Amino acid sequence: MKLHEYQAKQVFADAGVPTPASELASDVDGAVAAAEEIGYPVAIKAQVQVGGRGKAGGIKLVDDEDEAREAADEILGMDLKGYHVDRVLVEEAVDFSDELYVGITMDRGEGKPVAMVSTKGGVNIEEVAEEDPDAIAREHIDPAFGMHPYQARKAVYDAGVDQSVARDVSSVLTTLYQLWDDRDGSDAEINPLMVTSDDEVIAADAVMNIDEDALFRQPELAEMEEEAAGGDELEQKADEYDFDYVRLEGNTGIIGNGAGLVMTTLDLVDHYGGEPANFLDVGGGAKADRIANALDMVFSDDNVDSVVFNIFGGITRGDEVAKGINEALEQFDEIPKPVVVRLAGTNWEEGMEILNEDLVTVEQTLEDAVQRAVEYAEEVNE
Ligand code: GDP
Ligand code: MN
Repeated sequence: MKLHEYQAKQVFADAGVPTPASELASDVDGAVAAAEEIGYPVAIKAQVQVGGRGKAGGIKLVDDEDEAREAADEILGMDLKGYHVDRVLVEEAVDFSDELYVGITMDRGEGKPVAMVSTKGGVNIEEVAEEDPDAIAREHIDPAFGMHPYQARKAVYDAGVDQSVARDVSSVLTTLYQLWDDRDGSDAEINPLMVTSDDEVIAADAVMNIDEDALFRQPELAEMEEEAAGGDELEQKADEYDFDYVRLEGNTGIIGNGAGLVMTTLDLVDHYGGEPANFLDVGGGAKADRIANALDMVFSDDNVDSVVFNIFGGITRGDEVAKGINEALEQFDEIPKPVVVRLAGTNWEEGMEILNEDLVTVEQTLEDAVQRAVEYAEEVNE
């Protein structure tokens, strides 16, 4: 589970990490009012859970009311890497001399959390990690002992952080690890951690991802997740229906059971020249109403032009699935988007008999089903 920047900043600020003054806004007037209150210059920042907003045009620095209005108008409502922007964070702009990177994540190879520090923070840290990995100092942490103060100092020293801010950066890194540990983080990151001309450090961006399986003991963060889900209608719907769902940018809707099978279907859609519109796993033992909910999900997505249903019956029974598909489709006078079904495994033959071929296209193999769905999607766009 990912927190939004404004939520992660709140969590970091509550723990004592310096953050710029900021206010959330969901319309242009609200954004301008916030900017006036904070005082120019301000940064106006799209609140979507995706990295690289700066490069994608989702962050603008403005100096006066006119610029603020223009920037807020441009960013609110924009499509940023497939995410609809419906809120911006208006934030006191920081006049910085350096951009650092600090982060905590799990190093699966070592089986330990790792603290990372770099003086090459900013928008290109992913490139730095690939092209110049030595520019990121790393310190593994034994979770039984936590991060020793000398480890924080060592990571900061190894990274070559200027002595004038070394103590403050160590302190931020220590706090970040404590948060990561206390809050069941999977990643906690500040990029950039800005250094100002008078040697203060301040978190200009914030990333905090939480281990989903631990949310039951992080009620405060779970609440933030619900609030955040409010951003995308489809993702909110997926939460209500309790589906594992990821919205993508293509036009072939995909429904399957089991993460592996759904991923395979995504790969095949791509293989046959199509573009997946989503990942949707209905899970094991899916009953008729769940199937109907899954169809509702993909039909509600305006990007979807055709749907492929790929079910392998284990616990899930083919006849139940077929019943669900029929029931869901019989509600429509006209089927909104063509649906292709492939059933295999438990009771697939019963399922095939039940399926109403006036409503869906039935294919025997996964390859045929995917190809057919991709063709349907192409036809729509001809
Ligand atoms: P990201 O691109 O999604 O990681 O968003 P960030 O919050 O990291 O912002 C990207 C870049 O925008 C930063 O590296 C800065 O160069 C710039 N930026 C963000 N906030 C400010 C600010 O308050 N002042 C200035 N001068 N630049 C900022
Ligand atoms: Mn960033």
